[in-house]
Amino acid sequence: MRLEFIDLKAQYRSLKDEIDGRIQKVLDHGQFILGPEVWELETRLEAYTGAPHCITVASGTEALLISLMAMGVGRGDEVITSPFSFIAAAEMIALLGATPVFVDVERDTCNLDPNKLEAAVTPKTKAIIPVSLYGQTCDMDEINAIAARHGVTVIEDAAQSFGATYRGRRSCNLSSIACTSFFPSKPLGCYGDGGALFTSDDKLATIMRQIRVHGQERRYFHSRIGVGGRMDTLQCAIVLAKLDSFDWEVERRLQIGDEYLRLLQGAEGIALPVVRPDRTSVWGQFTVQAENRPLLESKLRSAEIPLAVHYPLPLHCQPAYEGLCRRVGSMENAERLAQRVLSLPMHPFLDPETQNKIVEAVRGGQRG
Ligand SMILES: *Cc1c(COP(=O)(O)O)cnc(C)c1O
Repeated sequence: MRLEFIDLKAQYRSLKDEIDGRIQKVLDHGQFILGPEVWELETRLEAYTGAPHCITVASGTEALLISLMAMGVGRGDEVITSPFSFIAAAEMIALLGATPVFVDVERDTCNLDPNKLEAAVTPKTKAIIPVSLYGQTCDMDEINAIAARHGVTVIEDAAQSFGATYRGRRSCNLSSIACTSFFPSKPLGCYGDGGALFTSDDKLATIMRQIRVHGQERRYFHSRIGVGGRMDTLQCAIVLAKLDSFDWEVERRLQIGDEYLRLLQGAEGIALPVVRPDRTSVWGQFTVQAENRPLLESKLRSAEIPLAVHYPLPLHCQPAYEGLCRRVGSMENAERLAQRVLSLPMHPFLDPETQNKIVEAVRGGQRG
């Protein structure tokens, strides 16, 4: 059987009855937009994260866009974020005419370095978007404290970290606003595009709900400019079907991550991912750093182990952003990581035998 990078088919097999049942219910009631499952999911996710408000939206990217629009971010503003991430946060900042300001990441966690953050804040700074990369949050207390000193909003990009904890609290409930994604391969995924916004601020929640539906205050009365940003009922139903076993899945992710760390300890030429003691990673990706990535890649390919590189080119080097972004200080860690990172298969259904096969290929991979 083919080894999967993320085995969504195994997950479907184990949850078939719940998922099929939930889908059938939507087909029967026919409320495909803003149907009962949408509100049910929002309530469940508020309870899960502890965040007072959850607003489901069309994707993680849409969540970032809506949160920036709610903050009134536009031309002349700056938003600080990570240069070593998926493009979405920087992209939505630039789309609104604001400037993405990049601060380098930590070499071990690959997350935004709070020690370098304050130097990047200017009177134009409107928000900071720390990305909880690979399933582990940044040092959110430190980042919130810096933001508070300067009256800046923190928006957690939690697309890879739903289910992770930081000092006993859950990702998505660690800052004024958080954005997550239900893209199929994320820790909690649907079967298409989907995402959610979280906030503790009642006023912001109302604004974001309005932006989600064309800035409507009431039907056909538009008090602000918005987007068509709803998550559809079927996708919400699918997330609901997966939610009952999500605690089990997170537990499995933690175990499989620990097992990778144990089995790969001391592997030559490989630096293992680092999780700070005050938090957990849901291993949105299990990403190692290889001294010689091309060699490791070719060994994994010949053992038919699927792999991915998250991410091969830092964001300040992307052609579309030339002249549109600002860097504060050196981006040396981001640039170094882009040359070295490699993600291994990671999902709750990875069995010990398969994991051993992957580990063997990695261990053999650096010897040539
Ligand atoms: C996946 C991802 C997004 C975007 O989510 P979509 O639902 O695909 O729009 C944003 N940020 C990060 C860090 C991601 O991994």
